[in-house]
Amino acid sequence: MSQHVVVVGRGLAGAMVAWKFAERGCRISWWGDGEPGASRVAAGMFNPVSFRRVVEVWNASAHVANMRSTLQAMEEAFGLQGALIHDVPVVKIFANDAYRQTWDDRWTTDHGVTQWAERGQPAEGLDITSLNAPHGVGKVHAAGWVDVPALLDAMEAHVATHHTLVDRAWRVDDGLPDGADVVVDCRGVGAVKELSEVGLKVNPNHGDVLTLSTEAEALQTQGHNVNNGKWLLPMRQQDGRQWWRLGATYSWDKPTPAPHVPAAQALKDHMADAFHGGASHAWDKAEVEAHQAGLRPASPDRRPMVGPWPGQPEGVLMLNGLGTRGVLVGPAAAEALVNFWLDDLPISPEMRPDRFKSVRARFPD
Ligand SMILES: Cc1cc2nc3c(=O)[nH]c(=O)nc-3n(C[C@H](O)[C@H](O)[C@H](O)COP(=O)(O)OP(=O)(O)OC[C@H]3O[C@@H](n4cnc5c(N)ncnc54)[C@H](O)[C@@H]3O)c2cc1C
Repeated sequence: MSQHVVVVGRGLAGAMVAWKFAERGCRISWWGDGEPGASRVAAGMFNPVSFRRVVEVWNASAHVANMRSTLQAMEEAFGLQGALIHDVPVVKIFANDAYRQTWDDRWTTDHGVTQWAERGQPAEGLDITSLNAPHGVGKVHAAGWVDVPALLDAMEAHVATHHTLVDRAWRVDDGLPDGADVVVDCRGVGAVKELSEVGLKVNPNHGDVLTLSTEAEALQTQGHNVNNGKWLLPMRQQDGRQWWRLGATYSWDKPTPAPHVPAAQALKDHMADAFHGGASHAWDKAEVEAHQAGLRPASPDRRPMVGPWPGQPEGVLMLNGLGTRGVLVGPAAAEALVNFWLDDLPISPEMRPDRFKSVRARFPD
C-alpha cells in the first residue's frame, strides 16, 4: 500500500515535499491555514553565484541540476511548458576596480564560478547602453527566475484533482494526523515559536519587493536582470510598457509581513544609480504597480533544516529554513527528506536539524 503523507504549509517548501512524495507514488494530503506566506511574494530568482565574495553558492551544481529537472517535470505534468522556469541572465554592475579585480581573478584560477559567469566587460559589450557602469559589469548566464505563484497554483490544482487539498491548520502538538504514515511540517515562519522551544532558531527576515512599469522603448536591459546591490528583473511587455520587479530589502526587526512603506522609495532611489541618460529619465517616471512583502524563514547558518522534528515521535518531519534561496535549495532539500523517509538514506549533516548544539543539548541522541 502506498504511504499517506500529510504536508503542512502551502508555500514552496510544502509544494516541493508534496511533489517529491507524489512522484514516488504516495498519497498526499496538503494542508494549509489560508495565509499567503513568503512564497507568494518571492521573486523566485535563482543564481549560482554569490555576489558578496564572488563564489559559488552552497552546493550550486547539485542544486541547479535538481531545481531544473524538478521544474521541468512539473511543467510537463501541469501542461505549463516554458511557463514556470525563465532563464534570465544577471548583469552585476561592479562597484569599483577592486571588485572587478576579484571577479576577474576567478578566471586565472579556473574557479567554479567560471562555469556560470563571464569575465568582466563594459556594459556596451552586452549591448546595454542604459547602464551607468564605469567599472564594467560581470554577466552570470546561468541565472533566472521561477514563477512561484504559478507553480503553487498549479500544484494546488494538481493535488485537488489527484490527491487531497485540506484547509486546516496544524501545530506540532497535534502530532501524526489520523491515518497518516508521516507528517511534514513546512510552515516557514509559522513554526518559529514551537521550534524555539526545541532549540531551533528560524529567524523571520522581512523583505519588500516592488512591481513597476516603464515605457517599453525608453528603458531596456536587453533581457538582463540588473544587479547593483539591489536587483531589477524584467518580467514582460504589455501595452507598450515594460514590467519589472525590483527588490529586495532585508530586515530582522519587522515581525509582520506588512509592506514597509518607506522601502518603496529607497529601492527606487538605489536602482536609479544604475542608469544614465534617457534611461535615467525613464526610470524616474517608473510607476509602482504593487508593493508586497513577506517573511523569509532564515536559519542561523543559512542552510535548510531537513529531517526529524526534534523530540517528536517517528513520522513527524520538517523542511524549514529556506531563507533567501528557496527556489534553488527547495527541490534538493525536499528530495533528501523523501529519500530519508522512503529509502532510509541519510540526510546530509549540513541539513539535519540536529546539527545545532542547542538541539543536541536537549535531545542527546
Ligand atoms: C520579498 C521576498 C523576495 C524573495 N525573493 C526570492 C527569490 O528571488 N528567490 C528565492 O529563492 N527566494 C526568494 N525569497 C525567499 C522565498 O520566499 C522563501 O525561501 C520561500 O518562499 C520559503 O517557503 P516556505 O514554504 O518555507 O514558507 P512560506 O512560503 O512562508 O510558506 C509557509 C506556509 O505555511 C503556512 N502555515 C503557517 N502556519 C501554519 C499552520 N499552523 N498550519 C498550516 N499552515 C500554516 C503559511 O500560511 C504559509 O502558506 C523571497 C522572499 C521575500 C519575502
